[in-house]
This record gives sequence, C-alpha cells and structure tokens, in this order.
Amino acid sequence: METELQAARTLLYAAAVKVTDNAPDKTRFAAMAKRFATDTGSSVVDRALQLHGGYGYLMDYPVERFWRDLRVHSILEGTNQVMRMIIARDMLRD
Ligand SMILES: Cc1cc2nc3c(=O)[nH]c(=O)nc-3n(C[C@H](O)[C@H](O)[C@H](O)COP(=O)(O)OP(=O)(O)OC[C@H]3O[C@@H](n4cnc5c(N)ncnc54)[C@H](O)[C@@H]3O)c2cc1C
Repeated sequence: METELQAARTLLYAAAVKVTDNAPDKTRFAAMAKRFATDTGSSVVDRALQLHGGYGYLMDYPVERFWRDLRVHSILEGTNQVMRMIIARDMLRD
C-alpha cells in the first residue's frame, strides 16, 4: 500500500512540474496523475478498511470516512473515464 501511494505521489509531482513548466504534454500528465492517484487512493483505503475488519466500517475509527471521501474523487473534476479519454486523445495526437 505504501509503495502504491508513493508511486501515485511521484506521478502527481511529475505532473505538477509539467504544469509549472507549461510543457506540451502537461494535460496528459495531469490527467494521468488524477486518474492514477484517485484510483490508487481508493484501492489502498479499501484495503485499509478491510484490514480493520468490522471496526473499519464503524464510525469509531476514521478509516470509514477516508473510504467515503476517496470515493467521490473518481467522479469529481472530470471522471476517471473522461481522464482516460483525455490521455488517449493526447497520445493519438503524437
Ligand atoms: C460532491 C460533488 C461536488 C461537485 N462539485 C462541483 C463543482 O464545484 N463544480 C462543478 O462544476 N461540478 C461539480 N460537481 C460535478 C462533477 O464535476 C460531475 O459530477 C462530474 O464531472 C461527472 O459528471 P456527471 O455527474 O454529469 O456524470 P456523467 O457525465 O453523466 O457521467 C456518468 C458516468 O458515465 C461515464 N461517462 C460519461 N461520458 C463517458 C464517455 N464518453 N466514455 C466513457 N464513460 C463516460 C462517467 O465517467 C460516469 O461514470 C460535483 C459533483 C459532486 C458529486
């Protein structure tokens, strides 16, 4: 889980550098980072909840809120399906 989060964070920082530099492929990188970070975050928090067993589902611990909070980020700011379209379109343009 830590490895996957670090990989997502690394892609996010790479996209941030592309945007800051106004690189020609900044849109592709931003879409890849959004898609990967939110899917990875969802997958990791789902496993974290499972790790806690029944307590993971209860409000006694914050992991259930992290799970709910993460879910919407595959939808917000352009769904992850739309991110895939943006990435593919940009690749086809090359
Ligand atoms: C809590 C919350 C806060 C929000 N805040 C804001 C805000 O501040 N400002 C704002 O402008 N919007 C906001 N939104 C709206 C958000 O940006 C949209 O919900 C999001 O862009 C998806 O659009 P939609 O809900 O119309 O889904 P739709 O576009 O109807 O999509 C439905 C499903 O079909 C898929 N889909 C659609 N088209 C394709 C395609 N061509 N290929 C493959 N799959 C496709 C989508 O990925 C999705 O899974 C908010 C939404 C939520 C839930």
